[in-house]
Amino acid sequence: MFQLTGKTAVVTGAGSGIGRGVALLFAKAGAQVIVADLNREAGQQTVEEITAAGGKAEGLFIDVSRQAEVVNAFKQLDVIDVLVNSAGVSHIGRADTTSEEDFDRIYRVNVKGVYNTLFAVIPSMKERKNGVIVNMASIASSVGLPDRFAYSMSKGAVLAMTLSVAKDYISDGIRCNCVSPARVHTPFVDGFLAKNYPGKEQEMFDKLSRTQPIGRMAKPEEVAALILYLCSDEASFITGCDYPIDGGFIKLNN
Ligand code: ADP
Repeated sequence: MFQLTGKTAVVTGAGSGIGRGVALLFAKAGAQVIVADLNREAGQQTVEEITAAGGKAEGLFIDVSRQAEVVNAFKQLDVIDVLVNSAGVSHIGRADTTSEEDFDRIYRVNVKGVYNTLFAVIPSMKERKNGVIVNMASIASSVGLPDRFAYSMSKGAVLAMTLSVAKDYISDGIRCNCVSPARVHTPFVDGFLAKNYPGKEQEMFDKLSRTQPIGRMAKPEEVAALILYLCSDEASFITGCDYPIDGGFIKLNN
């Protein structure tokens, strides 16, 4: 397995879903994991799970949309070798059914949240001439998805920020990539089905699974495995890339 021994990795959104999967896998790979999440309880659970398994983790309870909060929190950490941006919010709606309030909320967390962590982490990575960043984009940044207007806007911005950072700091020893999953089976999916299709959760779950060419959703740990590789020294030649992990969604959905 790829190793992160001796590295400190900040994982935002590590209380749930993909971020949690990344935190658990990074700890197994030997990293000291900083579990950054707005949800204190969820973050704490991830920390406890890691420490119970003999790994190293600590919680950092921040709202990524608040720059001063992120900058101050990151300053408390000695070194950040790896940053994974997985905090995010989802939204269902089209251009004419998305309220200004929802648009702003998605922008604040998914776009400004990523900018804030980059703003906070890049100076020290530059100084040490070493750092790896992986951002969570989505297939929504390169294909049209139904009813995902604000979400697609935000993930398109994540892809563009990834390329910009990769270019600007390539000679500072910083690598920056993003990954673009199709549907991932996370608590968000279960909550969405329970809320919108009570009593029909399994039926809808199967229907959603069939929209993926591979016939199922991704597991968070499958996305985490790709991210671990990208953050490892074995991926030292990879920067400025967007990796689909989509069960064939982009190329085989015809
Ligand atoms: P995903 O499928 O993207 O992993 P989840 O909803 O399962 O989605 O997880 C997203 C995580 O991001 C949650 O733990 C949530 O608390 C966290 N999060 C959401 N907004 C913020 C924020 N503003 N600051 C920090 N963490 C956040």
